[in-house]
This record gives sequence, structure tokens and C-alpha cells, in this order.
Amino acid sequence: MRLSTPAFVLRRIRWSDSSLILTLYSLDFGRISVMVRGALRPKSNFTGRIELFSQGEFQLIRREGRELDTATDVSVIFHRNKLRTEFRSFAAAGLFTEWLLSVISFGNEPSGPVYRLLEETFTLLEAGASPWPIVCGSVVKILSISGFGFSTEACVACGADTTGVTLWSHAGGGVVCGECGESGFTVSAGLLTFLAKAENSSLESLARVKLWPGGYIQCHSLLKEYAQVHLERRLLLKSEKVMKEILHAGH
Ligand SMILES: [Zn+2]
Repeated sequence: MRLSTPAFVLRRIRWSDSSLILTLYSLDFGRISVMVRGALRPKSNFTGRIELFSQGEFQLIRREGRELDTATDVSVIFHRNKLRTEFRSFAAAGLFTEWLLSVISFGNEPSGPVYRLLEETFTLLEAGASPWPIVCGSVVKILSISGFGFSTEACVACGADTTGVTLWSHAGGGVVCGECGESGFTVSAGLLTFLAKAENSSLESLARVKLWPGGYIQCHSLLKEYAQVHLERRLLLKSEKVMKEILHAGH
């Protein structure tokens, strides 16, 4: 069966001397893996068109019962060169990609909102937006889209108003009131304000939100611990270390 879909290149794995296996997030089929035969040959049609984070219209062949599609051609929609050449943008795009691949499994339903979130995240990072608020904001949004959202406004246990309360429960799924707070731990009010804003505001407006020094690292750690409880596994986010170094270096 021949298929066509716009998609992002999220991972490239060398399969042989000349072939690659790509992990794509596609608009029409969600997360898929595709074989690109001959991609590394000098005169390949794919040269310069399937770089990491680039966005293209892929022509695919799918065989019944096979999990791996074959790419036969691609036309570039956006190269996104700056995402690969600016190391801050590269690290941030890499970290969000690792999150996305942790939350979205192979075989999940295709999702327009996930595709558009990737597009918006990469576009803002490529334009030089501040990496940490974009990554934290995008992570909040992908958790919410994928059914792992949390409550920042009312107690997750009893529904009571939690204005002024800063107790949080990973297992409970967000803020808890003083009455239900036995399982909760205290988080800073500023962090809760950011999380609430991240769910309800555009990424572009989040990019301008400044937290105290180290605030985004705290925010990211909270999101990671929360996700690990709900996904029931450890998340290995290799780009996290690079991102922390960028922040400490003051870039
Ligand atoms: Zn309560």
C-alpha cells in the first residue's frame, strides 16, 4: 500500500552501511518507524532531506503485518537548520523529543494536536525562544494531550478550592487541599502558577515567563517525577544533563 504523510524526523538509527531507520511523528499515522534504503549513499535522493528535526512530506510503502514502513521519497517542508546548529535550540529540541517518545508509544492513535505541538515547539526554538520555558511548557501540554494531565486549580481528591495551598501529590494527580494533603508535599507557589499557566496559555507567551534561578530545573524535575509515577517506568532523558549545563553556564 502506498501512503503519503507530513512528518517530523525524531530519531535516526544507522541500520547498515547505507541504510537508516527513522522514527517519525506523522500527522496521519502518529509515531511510525521507516526504513530508508540507500539513505547514506552519496547520490541518494534523501541526502539533506531527512536530517534530525526536519519536517517533510514522506512517501511510504506499508506491507500488511509489518511494523516497519519503507520510505520511497520525501520532499522537505522545513529543513529547520537552526535547530541543529544552535546548541541551545538543539539540546531543547532533543529533550522535548525524548519526552514525546517517552509519552507517545508506537501504535498510539495519530494526533493532530501532538503534531501541531511539535511544529510550534520546533518553530519557537528555531526562532531563538528561551529553551527552558518552551521545554517545560511543551511537556505540560503533551502530558495533557496524552491523558496524563494534572490539576492545578482544585484538590484532586475532594475538589475543594486550593487557592493559597501549595501541596502536590504525584499519584493523586496534582494539587491537594490541606485536608487531603497527607500524601502531598509542598511545592513553591511560583511553580504552581507556571504549571497552571502552561496548561492554559500559548507556548509563545510562556517563552517570556522568567522564574527564579534554578526554577525551571525544579519544574522539569517535578514533571519528570510526576510522569514516572503515571507511566510506571523510569524516564531516561539524555538531553536533560546538557540542558542543565546550559542553564548553569548562564546562557
Ligand atoms: Zn481535598
